[in-house]
Amino acid sequence: MANLESTSITSTSSPESTTGQFLESEAVITLDHGAGAQASQRLFSSYIKPYISNPILDSLDDAAKLNSLTGDYAFTTDAYTVSPLFFAGGSIGSLAINGTVNDLAMLAAKPLYLSCSLILEEGLPLSILEKIVSDLAKAADFAQVQIVTGDTKVVPRGACDQIFITTAGIGKILAKPAPSGSNLVPGDAIIISGAIGDHGLTILNARENLTFLTGIKSDCAPLNHLVQSLVNLNIPIHCLRDVTRGGLATTLNELANQSQVEIEISEKAIPIHTAVKNACDLLGLDPLHLANEGKCLCIVPSEYAKLVVETMHKHSQKNNLAQEAAIIGQVVAKSTQAMVTLKTSIGGRRILAVPEGGPLPRIC
Ligand code: MG
Repeated sequence: MANLESTSITSTSSPESTTGQFLESEAVITLDHGAGAQASQRLFSSYIKPYISNPILDSLDDAAKLNSLTGDYAFTTDAYTVSPLFFAGGSIGSLAINGTVNDLAMLAAKPLYLSCSLILEEGLPLSILEKIVSDLAKAADFAQVQIVTGDTKVVPRGACDQIFITTAGIGKILAKPAPSGSNLVPGDAIIISGAIGDHGLTILNARENLTFLTGIKSDCAPLNHLVQSLVNLNIPIHCLRDVTRGGLATTLNELANQSQVEIEISEKAIPIHTAVKNACDLLGLDPLHLANEGKCLCIVPSEYAKLVVETMHKHSQKNNLAQEAAIIGQVVAKSTQAMVTLKTSIGGRRILAVPEGGPLPRIC
């Protein structure tokens, strides 16, 4: 599932009635539980969802869809714990805005208002706090969204790592029906807005100082303006999904499961920067498992696919956000197997599975 973080709506579900779903082998939290892949999915489905399940949460999209008399709204929240705090192409401040803006944009919502809560560790230099808050402000300004409420807490040394940030956001949904991971049907084209893997590798580089990794920076960016250009086309957008933790492999499997379909993608068609591909080969990493912070999938009936790619390219003349957008595959059948098949570059075929955890923790 995509959205471990989609809602704060409470429910009266009884925890006692769900204890049978608990996994006895998983007695404590591990870093894999935060990687957005299989372990995260088990954590959510066995330990969290049973207590707070409701129809809005259970849609498992990037944001909760809230109906009102004045229109439909998207509501989402996300916690940011990236280490290190600053990296090529961004910081925990820009991530905390763009990540939440993007989850709203994935419901074709125009982001309106954000909240921002800061958890600060005793001893954090004020100069670092000021730089992060300045990055928050710049990113919000660029995304054209306002931070209208927030909170600040300080915890003793060792109780957190310098700074953790939680943002929540609300936006007005512009498309009817709203895009959803449940809307995929056979014949749909799968489009990715650009090259994958840059963010995950950038964080690895910043943490480990790998001297052979040069010319790679995070793709951290707001996608709401790009989505607005797609909404303006007035075409049916079946699904938008940002490709974050767990990477492309996990995201495609989430969508296949949500819609109960079989997806086929072509390895050759997936845009990957040469530097990322070479580094992944050297480090034994799969770029399809690496996180991104400024890329999304757009899934539309195939007759609109070319128009979507052209629109993404045109939008990118100003900001280079989606100049490598490409059609990477299609939805091939309805299927209770809900699988993703990868046509490999050398002509083979393999099932693209969800990794157990992530190649590295705390990437967002
Ligand atoms: Mg998301």
